[in-house]
Amino acid sequence: MNNPYSVVTTIKSYDVIIVGASFAGSTLAIELGQSGFQVLLLDQMSFPETSSRTYPFFNSAVNLLKKLNLESYLEEIDSPTVPQILFQFDEVCIKGEVPVVNKESRNYGVKRSDLDFVLFKKAISFENVTCLQGFQVTKLLRQMDQVVGIAGVNRLGETFQYTAKMVIGADGRNSIVRRELNLQPMLNLESDYAYFHGSLSGLEPLNPLHFEVYRVLDQILAVFPTTKNQYGVYVIFPHSKQSWMEAFKQSSEDAFLRYLETEFSQINFQHRLKHAKLTTRVESLTDYSNYWYEGLGKGWALVGDAVIFKEPCLGQGVHDAIYAGRYLAELLKKYPDWIYSSSTLAYEYNRHLVEKFKGPFDLSGVLTKQQKLTAEEKMMHQMISAYPEATEKFLGIFNYANNMNELNSTIEQIVKSKTT
Ligand SMILES: Cc1cc2nc3c(=O)[nH]c(=O)nc-3n(C[C@H](O)[C@H](O)[C@H](O)COP(=O)(O)OP(=O)(O)OC[C@H]3O[C@@H](n4cnc5c(N)ncnc54)[C@H](O)[C@@H]3O)c2cc1C
Repeated sequence: MNNPYSVVTTIKSYDVIIVGASFAGSTLAIELGQSGFQVLLLDQMSFPETSSRTYPFFNSAVNLLKKLNLESYLEEIDSPTVPQILFQFDEVCIKGEVPVVNKESRNYGVKRSDLDFVLFKKAISFENVTCLQGFQVTKLLRQMDQVVGIAGVNRLGETFQYTAKMVIGADGRNSIVRRELNLQPMLNLESDYAYFHGSLSGLEPLNPLHFEVYRVLDQILAVFPTTKNQYGVYVIFPHSKQSWMEAFKQSSEDAFLRYLETEFSQINFQHRLKHAKLTTRVESLTDYSNYWYEGLGKGWALVGDAVIFKEPCLGQGVHDAIYAGRYLAELLKKYPDWIYSSSTLAYEYNRHLVEKFKGPFDLSGVLTKQQKLTAEEKMMHQMISAYPEATEKFLGIFNYANNMNELNSTIEQIVKSKTT
């Protein structure tokens, strides 16, 4: 319970307060912690978190873990390596090896709760990183137009205030830091889709293991192998399927299995379910937008999902949060006088986010709307699946092995060679 009378202002001031200790926040705390900054890392949850969601963790993200000296933890969390990736769009199948990035070929199917715990443990191993779990930030403190700290409440309902030179919102989609700043999105596209995730045991496997994504008419099925022979399974369908939306509302667990058994018969998925059992509760994401906010201002910054959110089925959110956490830390080290350098910092940070993420964000905008594949898209998929060089560039978009432009120019070359 929040007790409005117990306001305690702590005397200690920090260089940085990071709100949110998951992927983006813990990465930032590691990078700033090892450079000697005084960091206060806050999270309303306790780690390890309880989510059962499984994510593909591509080689590009493995490379980021190497930079954080955390590679060895991948052995510890005992996730399977997944060499192949498969996309099926109606009847066209595009599949192959996940393209290698900087000589790294290992991809994993990880439980998000294992992975953010690894980052969190490393972050709090630094003496100069103070961490409070179960602490919910409720307010930003300001002096004039400068953010100077936060106020929040612990599990006992006691309210505390902390001050810092910089407050960073690494607090996800519903970021309190962003809301307190009253920012309006620069880009915002509401999604037509709802996500439901459950873990299955006993699913008939593909050999070798694949990250599998099937688009059947206007619905998507994503299957990611993970620890202990389990599979993280996402069912994604438009809100316009009202009877299914209602069924999931009544009993997600019951609806989840029925949906898998009945809605993916075109790809014969029901045959792989003979011995399958749902081993977790079903988690959902039903109302969300793809958005993009300004990333940095006077005394504040946003990172990870707090600043940009893309369609989750791209499988890039964790990579992006770790990547951006590292990049923001680098910038803060490059311009240590944050108050006087705030416009330079803002310019460089926002520009880099655009360079790195605008391409996938645009792709995400196409995926988030309920629309049937056009004849042109179908032709494109056929061409990509028929030409190995195009397949490689298509698959490489998802793990940042290459960008959309490289795929487009590969396709142009194929078309040119066919017409000459
Ligand atoms: C259904 C779904 C499926 C997804 N699938 C994938 C996938 O397959 N692959 C992939 O890479 N990504 C996926 N994502 C995206 C991925 O989860 C996010 O991009 C990633 O978690 C972003 O990390 P983050 O650290 O920015 O934010 P988060 O992971 O959201 O962490 C935010 C942290 O802030 C804390 N917090 C929030 N508010 C407060 C507050 N007021 N006070 C204190 N602490 C606070 C939270 O407790 C949390 O720990 C998926 C997302 C969803 C919703």
